[in-house]
Amino acid sequence: MKITIVIAGLMLNAIFLVRAQDDTFQNEVDTININGLEDLKSALQPATLFTVLEAMESWMPTLVSSLNWNTQMSSNIILNYYIDHSDENDGIFEDFLAESDKIIADLETFFELEQLNKQGRLASASRLNCFVIKVKSDFTFGTLPDPHLLFYYLDPERDPKYMQRFRHEYAHWTFGRIYGEAPSLFYEGVATYAEKMSGKNPDAVKFRDISFQLEDVPPINELADNDSFWKCKNNYTISALFIDFLVSKWGWAPLKDLYLSSDYDDPDIQNHFREVYGLSMEEVEPDWRNYLESGQELSFSE
Ligand SMILES: [Zn+2]
Repeated sequence: MKITIVIAGLMLNAIFLVRAQDDTFQNEVDTININGLEDLKSALQPATLFTVLEAMESWMPTLVSSLNWNTQMSSNIILNYYIDHSDENDGIFEDFLAESDKIIADLETFFELEQLNKQGRLASASRLNCFVIKVKSDFTFGTLPDPHLLFYYLDPERDPKYMQRFRHEYAHWTFGRIYGEAPSLFYEGVATYAEKMSGKNPDAVKFRDISFQLEDVPPINELADNDSFWKCKNNYTISALFIDFLVSKWGWAPLKDLYLSSDYDDPDIQNHFREVYGLSMEEVEPDWRNYLESGQELSFSE
């Protein structure tokens, strides 16, 4: 099977897990050379992780075309999966499509998605093309390198919540294919909020479980800048809480309008926010702080 992928506008939108960010990531190497799965496995080390992920655009197409994928399809998903160990069966993929379709249907309800296709975004996205590699690894990661492609690398034994991780990616996809993208604060916020708060998610209850220092939360207008967002500790948690704050106060409509007027890289995000909400992000700050303080024990399980 010949697979051609075009990867445009690479974003490291969903990189998480198993290894938490720490100082070891400071020692990055400049270049990597990945021509297949064995190269990827040996390149995925704490010191090189971000370099590997940032270079996805160059190695992913090579990797994809170097493997023999099993392919199955549902109305939403084209699932291409590869199992790295020949002695293992494809147990985890048996229910994958059915489970994925259920998650996507849940999310469409949760987001109150409209049939209206305002900017023709939906028309170009029929199915999500998923490439999933099941591998024994310390690392799990997933990313949507373009709006129709999901790449996932997982070890179900180390990461038994992998289906919940997919919920996050599917949230990017279902919301994004109609409303597009917005800076990370909103982009990761919507996906993480939906991941934790939609459907029958046993972790949703933990949203306010573990305490977290409110003084460590930077002003929200700063977090609208992607660089600040990615430097912020607990960024996913904070972004999801901010979306919860926005949606509980104003509903989905202005957030959808914000997405429609914005983009992942949006130097004008502060103005776009003001146009949609009628308040600047600075003006929203006191209410946002009140919201944070009112949640007795704010928290979240990553
Ligand atoms: Zn994400």
